[in-house]
Amino acid sequence: MDALDALDALDALDASDASAGCLIQNYTRLPVTFTHGEGAWLWDDKGRRYLDAIAGIAVCSLGHAHPAVTAALCEQARRVTHTSNLYRIAAQEKLAGELARISGLETAFFCNSGAEANEAAIKIARLAARADGNNHPVIAVARGAFHGRTLGAWSATDPLGEHPGTPPPLAPGFVQTPFGDIAALEKTADETPQLCAVMLEPIQGENGVRIPADGTLRAVRELCDRRGLLLILDEVQTGLCRTGAWYCFRHEGAAPDLLTTAKALGNGVPVGACLGRRETTRHLAAGAHGSTFGGNPLACAAALAVIKTMEQEKLHEQAARTGDYLLGELRRALAGVPSVGDIRGRGLLIGIELDRPCQALAQTALEHELLINVTAGRVIRLAPPLIMERAQADLLVERLTAVIANFGDGA
Ligand code: PLP
Repeated sequence: MDALDALDALDALDASDASAGCLIQNYTRLPVTFTHGEGAWLWDDKGRRYLDAIAGIAVCSLGHAHPAVTAALCEQARRVTHTSNLYRIAAQEKLAGELARISGLETAFFCNSGAEANEAAIKIARLAARADGNNHPVIAVARGAFHGRTLGAWSATDPLGEHPGTPPPLAPGFVQTPFGDIAALEKTADETPQLCAVMLEPIQGENGVRIPADGTLRAVRELCDRRGLLLILDEVQTGLCRTGAWYCFRHEGAAPDLLTTAKALGNGVPVGACLGRRETTRHLAAGAHGSTFGGNPLACAAALAVIKTMEQEKLHEQAARTGDYLLGELRRALAGVPSVGDIRGRGLLIGIELDRPCQALAQTALEHELLINVTAGRVIRLAPPLIMERAQADLLVERLTAVIANFGDGA
């Protein structure tokens, strides 16, 4: 069986195949299976074509099957896929340099996901605290935060483990403060002598695209400087041009000490990184952390192609332009729909808040051949590929308006 036959055999699998029952049922999945994609389009196994307004949860920023990523992957797979971090990896060193250039941070540790990148950041912050004589370090995290589902990242996530799926105990060393409230953060710092860092998403994605007031990040940076705290920014969702800048912090010029990035970095190939100032990341000595797969040649080839393409196609500018256009068109089209409240966004990360739970809308949208996501119960989240064209943005508004209007009527 050659490679194409193998793919055809996979495509022929019936979704109701008994083997689906062999999966642990930890996801709530919509009843659709995609076989291929191109740009902002995905096709299912019945030949129906969907407009993708979520991009694999803010991952496929270059769209599906981007030729530059495909070519880089094929070329790298022909040479070598994996060697491990027992050896130098040229593509990893090059990628570290590229990330330093676009983020302004100096050093990188590579892993395979956003949660792992956050685990690395938490560990580095704790090691830096210990080097300072603080043996019980505490990190301030925000109410409404989402940092991933591994134990450390989940312990930093709101509601700090009250989710029924959380096995006790959580990792210690986190204290929660209201998102975007500088006075409250100041108070937390006063009351927490062992505080060593503040960890934040510049915009809370999973929590319904919550955007803090202008100047908040700068004020947090200033507070951290004044009190000798590290600033950790989780840009797993907001990074890599999504909000109209390479990284969201650049809108305010408030550079962090540690920054985590993943999702769009490989356009679908799993790769994440914890970036940081050399002064901070030096605490991660040889043997203190690692990953078998982290930054392997295949993942780094994909990430290098992603960064090059984003730069060549000026996708930060396109995300800002298309995002402004979409926000305006959505506000115009949904004005007067009673169930619709706030419509907010930055670049191509957009939230439409409804006045009632609306998880069912993802299924309704599917029936309209549109892929969206509902998060925080009542917020429709849009994170389309950054390469989305104007006509596709118009179609998105048209289909989404029909989906929401019918929902409002029927509720
Ligand atoms: N941090 C943020 C801000 C995220 O949005 C996510 C995922 O949605 C994560 C971390 C976790 O990333 P991953 O699912 O790749 O572990």
